[in-house]
Amino acid sequence: MSDIRILIVEDEPKVANAIQQGLEENNLQADVAYDGQMGKKLALSKNYQLIILDLNLPHLNGYDLCAEIRKHNSKVPVIMLTALGAMEDKIQAFDTGADDYMVKPFDFRELLARINVFLKRSDHNSKSVISGRLKVADLEIDNESKTVIRGGKKIELTAKEFALLMYLVRNKGRVVSRADIAEKIWDITFDTGTNVIDVYVNFLRKKIDKDFEPKLIHTRQGMGYVLKEE
Ligand code: CA
Repeated sequence: MSDIRILIVEDEPKVANAIQQGLEENNLQADVAYDGQMGKKLALSKNYQLIILDLNLPHLNGYDLCAEIRKHNSKVPVIMLTALGAMEDKIQAFDTGADDYMVKPFDFRELLARINVFLKRSDHNSKSVISGRLKVADLEIDNESKTVIRGGKKIELTAKEFALLMYLVRNKGRVVSRADIAEKIWDITFDTGTNVIDVYVNFLRKKIDKDFEPKLIHTRQGMGYVLKEE
């Protein structure tokens, strides 16, 4: 599973679940909100790479929700999904900030193709690496084969440790808080009573830093962690 996360806001469970399943089969994580308010809550609190938005929704319709999203996030691609195919609806969708529009019923393959266009584009823009190799000092990570090598030595990591390392490497030079890590890697809201993040950072340190120089993972007191060559 890649760390790309997509939000589906759709009140018809059948449609929502079919899209979610299709995305997951294509290694994309997908959250579903079954009404506009829930969609707004998720869209504004989590970091999605793309949002699929139905037009007719309970509590808050797709146009208004899209406008709300745009107030806070001008970049996330939004694909509107609706049974309405009239020109006025399409124009209104674009006016409220949607990037694309699909009329139901649609073929999932077409939706996926459109999603891929947006994901590729934002991948180039953010320079984030979805696949391929990353290197920091003598630490080499291959995200395709999930292998980690340091100083020429292969290092065995658990899935969580690997995800944590990838997150730190992608944010190289930037201090990430325990709350960021909790949300991105554990998909939980950070509870200050838990030390799970520190425990895992220590596991990771033992494996990738303990026997090597320079140290790459650094603690920033009261702020979090940063990965960099010092
Ligand atoms: Ca609907």
